Amino acid sequence: MAAASSFSLHHWSRAVPLSWTRLRRVGNRNRLIRFCTVRAGGDVLKEDIVVVGAGIAGLATSLSLHRLGVKSLVLEQADSLRTGGTSLTLFKNGWRVLDEMGVGDDLRPHFVEIQGMMVKSDDGRELRSFRFKDEDKSQEVRPVERRVLLETFASHLPPETIRFSSKLTGIKKSSDGETVLELADGTQVSAKIVIGCDGIRSPVAKWMGFSDPNFVGHCAIRGLAYYPDGHPLEPNVTYVYGKGLRAGYVPVSSTKVYWFLCFNSPSPGPRITNPSILKEQSRQIIWNWPLDIQDIIYHTADDTIIQTPLMDRWLWPALSPSASSGSVVVVGDAWHPMTPNLGQGACCALEDSIVLAQKLASAVNNPRAMSLEDALKSYERERWSRIFPLTIRANLVGAVLQLENPIVCSVRDNVLLKLVRLRSMLEHTNFEFEPLQNSG
Ligand SMILES: Cc1cc2nc3c(=O)[nH]c(=O)nc-3n(C[C@H](O)[C@H](O)[C@H](O)COP(=O)(O)OP(=O)(O)OC[C@H]3O[C@@H](n4cnc5c(N)ncnc54)[C@H](O)[C@@H]3O)c2cc1C
Repeated sequence: MAAASSFSLHHWSRAVPLSWTRLRRVGNRNRLIRFCTVRAGGDVLKEDIVVVGAGIAGLATSLSLHRLGVKSLVLEQADSLRTGGTSLTLFKNGWRVLDEMGVGDDLRPHFVEIQGMMVKSDDGRELRSFRFKDEDKSQEVRPVERRVLLETFASHLPPETIRFSSKLTGIKKSSDGETVLELADGTQVSAKIVIGCDGIRSPVAKWMGFSDPNFVGHCAIRGLAYYPDGHPLEPNVTYVYGKGLRAGYVPVSSTKVYWFLCFNSPSPGPRITNPSILKEQSRQIIWNWPLDIQDIIYHTADDTIIQTPLMDRWLWPALSPSASSGSVVVVGDAWHPMTPNLGQGACCALEDSIVLAQKLASAVNNPRAMSLEDALKSYERERWSRIFPLTIRANLVGAVLQLENPIVCSVRDNVLLKLVRLRSMLEHTNFEFEPLQNSG
């Protein structure tokens, strides 16, 4: 699929070899400005591998490359790592990748290992409960705060790796075959390989011809409750199934509890960021639920409450663009936004990053065996068969959980739920990969 040229470029000055004059840290430990000799137009940086986006996919890819001895530069539009936000639940596939990157044991002491899952009806009746290890001894379910995950990745990267305040605004191919990234501050970065890890509204994916993700008909409100003196919860996930509405909560640490509500909506609706409005809206949505979740919402810190319309994009064979176009490739949500119903979006972004890093590192270290572009194609072949079914499955699970008809919901809760085997429900968390080994 040819890369579309619709992504705007204001002006383009030819990328030229340059010599670094100095590197200087400015203020924030993570903010590093590179000063370079510029021969045409504004600043021009020349890099081998550029990662766009310092989210989970971007930092995990850069760290996996770093572990394999391959340097990359990460461009992030924000002026620091994302500090707000809630938590994610990672399953054993995510934790195995984090271990391979050498950060799993930095994270584990901060977060509770979740033992089981209880499903309740909206009148508080227990419908079903499972213990993860009874079903699969190797399962590991543990939430992680997004902020801590990003900071941990960043702390393992060489200090000059992330360039903040570097919003990508344009992409173009140069005459020498490199990809030129234009940033909002006027800087241009010329790269041999560009890895788009720029999330669900990825400008890189747009430039490659991907359509916008589709709204799936429900929105989530989520938050992180804080109990300074400790919360009383057992280390279990609690789900509450309603009609066109569901909720859940899980302890993250001894003082923090993650919660979410998911409600049907005909459209993504206006973007509401005021935490008081979101808290009030959440309380109204579940006003008649006799559950601890009311108290959990009450304890939520304002900077952790977010509303998100849920989106996905199905990667139809032959119809969807390829994950790579020449020397540009997409990873994580930029490639395969999926609904959070299986808790696999970030886990799959981690999987992507380790697979891509291995392919790229072997092409860098052994260019006669495989070109860089073939390495990107090989990444897509390996990952597509994993990602496409998971995206569909997550969507279908969401559709069943958001059913509204009371009779159908009763069959779901009182018949179908009793038949489900947790082991097969979590089969997708089995993921094998090659260890990160530096072949250089
Ligand atoms: C409600 C909800 C619950 C979820 N729960 C889970 C869960 O329990 N488990 C799980 O595994 N997954 C979960 N997910 C999915 C998970 O959050 C995503 O899959 C994951 O964050 C994707 O990471 P990413 O790095 O690809 O994208 P992002 O985290 O979105 O990072 C993209 C980065 O790119 C930067 N960027 C964007 N545009 C530009 C630009 N133009 N220039 C420079 N930088 C740019 C952004 O600032 C950001 O830092 C959930 C998602 C939602 C919506």
